[in-house]
Amino acid sequence: MSRTGLMPEHEKALQDEVNGWLERKYSMDFNSYQRIAKTTAIYPATHKILYPALGLAGEAGEVANKVKKLVRDGTSSLPKEWKENIASEIGDVLWYCAVLADDLGVSLGKIAADNETKLQGRKKRGMISGSGDSR
Ligand SMILES: [Mg+2]
Repeated sequence: MSRTGLMPEHEKALQDEVNGWLERKYSMDFNSYQRIAKTTAIYPATHKILYPALGLAGEAGEVANKVKKLVRDGTSSLPKEWKENIASEIGDVLWYCAVLADDLGVSLGKIAADNETKLQGRKKRGMISGSGDSR
């Protein structure tokens, strides 16, 4: 018996259900996230677009640097702490995407939907691999 008094497999199933509920509860759509991100975007209006574009490149670099260190260290399994650190950097990337999109006057939801349409079109045409923006 575990500390909950449940059989281990039941405790795991219950924990999985709780985790799924929490993820659904705290997941949000792109436009909601963008609205919230805007409230923490503090930089001179003269540097709209430029500031978040540079920040986006910097944060993407932080993601790449963390993954690079895993390669350097020959890490075969990803420790939980590393996953959390990389996920946090992805969150930073997302923030800059949201704010940059807002500076461009485009909703993050529209960008996500347009990107999904583009990728599905490539998939239907068998063009997922390869290169070029207009595949
Ligand atoms: Mg960061």
